[in-house]
Amino acid sequence: MIIIFLGPPGSGKGTQATDVAKQFGLKTLSTGDLLRVEIAAETKLGKKIQEVVNSGRLVNDEIVLDLIERNLDKYSGARGVILDGFPRTIVQAKKLNERLEATGRIVNFVFELDVDQDLLIKRLTNRYQCANCGTNYNKLYKNPSKPGICDVCGSHEFKMREDDTKSVILERFKEYHDLTEPLLPYYNSQGVLYRIDGNQTPDKIFAEISNILKNVLT
Ligand code: AMP
Repeated sequence: MIIIFLGPPGSGKGTQATDVAKQFGLKTLSTGDLLRVEIAAETKLGKKIQEVVNSGRLVNDEIVLDLIERNLDKYSGARGVILDGFPRTIVQAKKLNERLEATGRIVNFVFELDVDQDLLIKRLTNRYQCANCGTNYNKLYKNPSKPGICDVCGSHEFKMREDDTKSVILERFKEYHDLTEPLLPYYNSQGVLYRIDGNQTPDKIFAEISNILKNVLT
C-alpha cells in the first residue's frame, strides 16, 4: 500500500506521517529528510542540494527520483509505505506511477492537509528540532517535557531549520502553489484524494486520517 501526504510547508505532513505509520505498522519515506542526510554528509551533491533547499526552491526531479528509487526498494516487503513530501511535481508523480505499475502496485491514498497561510507561517517560524536526533518541536505547541532536554535522545542541543525563515518560507509557498498544487486534480481524477482540514489540532487530524485507513488496514 502506498499513501501520500500532500500539503504546503508547515501543514503537518511529517508529524502525521510519523504518527500514522506507528499506528498501522507502516514505513515512512520523507524526501526532505533524505535530502538533509545528503546535505549533512557534505558531499559535492550535498552542497548543491543545500543551496537549493536554503533558497526555498524545489530540488530538481532527477535528484529526488534517484533518492526515492534507492530507498523505496528497501521497503518492498513492508505492509505499506507513507511518502512524506513526495511527489511534489507532476513529473515526479508520473514517474512514481510508472515505477509502481512495474511492480503491480498503485497509489492507494493521497491525504491533502489544507491549512490557512497565516497559521502555516506561525507554525514554521516557531518550530525547532533536536540537533542530535532530529525530533521536531514547536515553541507554541510542543516543547520537550523537561525544558531544554530532548524527550527522545536526551540531547541539550536544539536548532532551527535554515529554510524556516520568513523570506524562504514565502518562496516555498510559491513553489507549492506553482508546482505541487497541480497534483491535487491529478490524484482527484484517480479517485484517491482525501482533503483533510489541517487547521485542526494534530490529534483531530490524526483521528480523521485513522478513521479512513482503519477500514482497510485493521
Ligand atoms: P520538507 O522537509 O518536506 O519541507 O522539504 C524541505 C525542502 O527539501 C523543500 O523545500 C525542497 O527544497 C526539498 N524537497 C523535499 N522534497 C522534495 C521533492 N519531492 N522534490 C523537490 N524538492 C524537495
